Amino acid sequence: MIKAITGTKDILPDEIYKWRYLEEIVITTLTKFNYKEIRTPIFEETKLFARGIGETTDIVSKEMYTFLDRSGTSITLKPEMTASVVRALIEHSLFKKQSLNKFFYISPMFRQERPQAGRLRQFHQFGAEAIGSNNPLLDAEMIIIAYNILKKLGLKNLSVKINSIGVPQSRENYKKILREYLNDYYNDLSHDSKKRFDTNILRIFDSKEEQDQKIMANAPLLVEYLDDVSLEHFEKVKRALLNAHVPFEIDAKLVRGLDYYTHTTFEIISSSVGAQSALCGGGRYNGLSKELEGPDLPGVGFAAGIERILLACENENTINTEEEKIDLYIVTIEKNLSEFAFNLAVKLRESNLSVELDYLERSLKAQMREANKFNSRYTLIVGGEEFRNGYLVLKNMSNGEQTNISVEDINKLISILMEK
Ligand code: AMP
Repeated sequence: MIKAITGTKDILPDEIYKWRYLEEIVITTLTKFNYKEIRTPIFEETKLFARGIGETTDIVSKEMYTFLDRSGTSITLKPEMTASVVRALIEHSLFKKQSLNKFFYISPMFRQERPQAGRLRQFHQFGAEAIGSNNPLLDAEMIIIAYNILKKLGLKNLSVKINSIGVPQSRENYKKILREYLNDYYNDLSHDSKKRFDTNILRIFDSKEEQDQKIMANAPLLVEYLDDVSLEHFEKVKRALLNAHVPFEIDAKLVRGLDYYTHTTFEIISSSVGAQSALCGGGRYNGLSKELEGPDLPGVGFAAGIERILLACENENTINTEEEKIDLYIVTIEKNLSEFAFNLAVKLRESNLSVELDYLERSLKAQMREANKFNSRYTLIVGGEEFRNGYLVLKNMSNGEQTNISVEDINKLISILMEK
C-alpha cells in the first residue's frame, strides 16, 4: 500500500474546522495590525535559502529538500518564509511604493528533520514580516501579535522569552570574550559544538547536548556586553510589551548566530506540548535584505508552527468541535425521480443553501440516517402518493413538523429554508 511520506500528514475533513478556526484568527488579527497577505512559490532557487538563512544553520546544512530540476537548476522546497518574502519585496521593488511593508503569510514549509510529536517534515507556519523600519515598536508589535493570536486561541500555558543580540559590531567584541571562555572547555564540547566554535560560535547556546549546556550555563552573556544603542532599543521593546500587558521573561541564551540578525530575538513556548515546546519564534534581521542584494532595509518578523499550536489547543481543550449543519437532505424514494431531485438540489444550491441528496439508491430509512448524520435542518421527501398529487413533503428535523409544498412552488421551499 502506498502511504503518505514519513513526517507528512493528511489533514482530514474532520480536523479542518480547527485549521479554519485558527486561520480566521490569524487573518483577522493581522489585518487589524494592517499586515497584507503574501503568497510565494513552494520552491525557490537553493541559493536564496543558502544566503538568506545561512550555510552554517541546521536548516541549510542538513534539513533542506533540495534537488536538481530537469534543467539542472538547484531547487529547494521552502523551509521558512522570510527569505522568500524579502526576495519578493526586492524583485517587485515594493519598497519603492511603500517605505514600510507589512506582510503576513500562512504556508506549508519543508524540513527533513527527525519526525516526532510536533515535528514534521511538511508542516505549516503562519507569520509576519515588517520590512523598512528599525523602530523597536515593531519588534514589540510582532510579539504582541503572536501573543494575541495564541491568547485568542484560548491558550494559557504560555511563556514569552525575549532577548537582544544587539548589533553586529558589539557582537564581534562579545564573540571574542565567549571564545576565550570556551577555549578552556573546548575538549569537552560535543562534536557539533566544536564545529560551531569555528563557524558560528553563538549557536553553541542552541545545543541540546547536556555536555554543552553545562558549559554554557556559566558562559558570559551577550546582553551584558551590549552597546548603548542596542540597550536603548531593547528597553523600548520591553516598555512597549509592558504597556501592552504581554508578560515576558528575558532569556539571555536566546541567540541567533548570523550577522544579519540584530537586536530582538523572541520565542513563545507552551508547557502543554511536550519536548517540542516552541510555538513561535522571531526577531529582527536588519542585514538580510542587503545580504540578498537588495537595498539596506531593516526588518523584523516571526513564524509560528500551526501543528504545534493546534496540539497545544487540543491538550488544553480550547477549540470546540464545530457542528456542521446542512440545510436540506433530499430523500428520493423512487429511482426514476433521482434526476428531478438532482436538478432541484442544483437550483437550491444556487440560492446559497447547502443541500445533499442520495447518490447510492439507498432505502428511505438509510437516507433518513444520512440526513441525521449530516445534521440536516430539513429533509424533503420526493416520491410516493404526495408526489403524484403534486407535492413534496418538507420535514423540520428539530421539531418533526411536516409541510406539503407544491412542486410548482419552489420559491416557497426556498423561503422556508432561508429562515434560519
Ligand atoms: P523557526 O522557523 O525554526 O524559527 O520555527 C518557527 C516555528 O515553526 C517553531 O516555533 C515551531 O512551532 C514551528 N516549526 C519549526 N520546525 C518545525 C517542524 N519540523 N515541524 C513542526 N513545526 C515546526
